[in-house]
Amino acid sequence: MLNSPYQSLTLPKAPRRNDPQIITAEVASREWIAPRLLRITLAAEEFHHFRLTGPDEYFGLFMPPPGTNYEPLEPYNGGNIRQHTCYLPEEQRPALRWYTVRKLDPTAGTITVDIATHGVTDPNTEGIGPGLRWALSVQPGAAVGYFSAQGLWCHAHPEQLLIGDASSTPSILAILEFLEYTAPESLEHVSVLVLTEDPDDLEPGLVERWSAQLQSCRVQYGSSVEPTPLLEAYHPGYVWGCGEQSLSRAVKRHASEKWGLPAHNIRWSPYWIYGSPRP
Ligand SMILES: Cc1cc2nc3c(=O)[nH]c(=O)nc-3n(C[C@H](O)[C@H](O)[C@H](O)COP(=O)(O)OP(=O)(O)OC[C@H]3O[C@@H](n4cnc5c(N)ncnc54)[C@H](O)[C@@H]3O)c2cc1C
Repeated sequence: MLNSPYQSLTLPKAPRRNDPQIITAEVASREWIAPRLLRITLAAEEFHHFRLTGPDEYFGLFMPPPGTNYEPLEPYNGGNIRQHTCYLPEEQRPALRWYTVRKLDPTAGTITVDIATHGVTDPNTEGIGPGLRWALSVQPGAAVGYFSAQGLWCHAHPEQLLIGDASSTPSILAILEFLEYTAPESLEHVSVLVLTEDPDDLEPGLVERWSAQLQSCRVQYGSSVEPTPLLEAYHPGYVWGCGEQSLSRAVKRHASEKWGLPAHNIRWSPYWIYGSPRP
């Protein structure tokens, strides 16, 4: 417990953060950890004292308009975070996108985030959004805004199924590492199902690293895999399904209609929307 980067190590219920704030952070490093996965490390004095509400804690990343430097935002005092930047002229407002803390290192004062690039390497590619454009072009030393949010996952039931795609596998891995740290025996009741386009979307060695400890660990590759038939193989007591909107919606529907899970044992979030920006 001492020096743990988490507020709670049990999490029987969905976590909440009571003190959201906007922190100005600096990009400390940026590296490709797989051919389609970028790891960006952010550093800030505040991260030395930061505590995560849960292992899949997400945060808002405020990125400056292309060609400009990030100017620290006014302190956040509650309310809609998108409205918060409206005091700035439109052309100066930073874009906001959501990512997951892959790792918090309080000693180093850093937070690491893994960003799925889905095969795009050129930040000038048409149709990509501000998040990916920023990730592909940002250099160490650049400033960004970090809006602290909260985790989604909880330990409401031991029989767990975690389902995701390239954008949410960093969250799944953070959950697995949290369980390994706090309750390693619980991993044998956990199954993981990842649907993604390409092996290069994932942290290398993922299946080898986890399959012996988990009840099951399956990765299905393909560009339009229909999730529902795959779900027939599972009967969890709790499901976490995040990723592209239609995937997370299919998980939610199946969990309530076929598995009969109560709402608090279903955690789903549309991380991104095929063909449209994430609001
Ligand atoms: C709680 C939460 C946590 C998240 N954590 C992570 C994380 O840790 N790592 C991560 O990579 N993503 C994560 N995401 C997803 C990320 O916020 C979205 O992918 C977001 O849309 C990226 O913004 P953008 O500006 O690049 O694209 P947008 O402006 O949102 O969209 C522009 C275009 O890009 C397409 N697009 C967007 N994302 C993807 C994608 N992943 N694959 C294929 N096409 C895409 C859209 O369909 C659209 O056509 C998270 C989302 C949420 C809500």
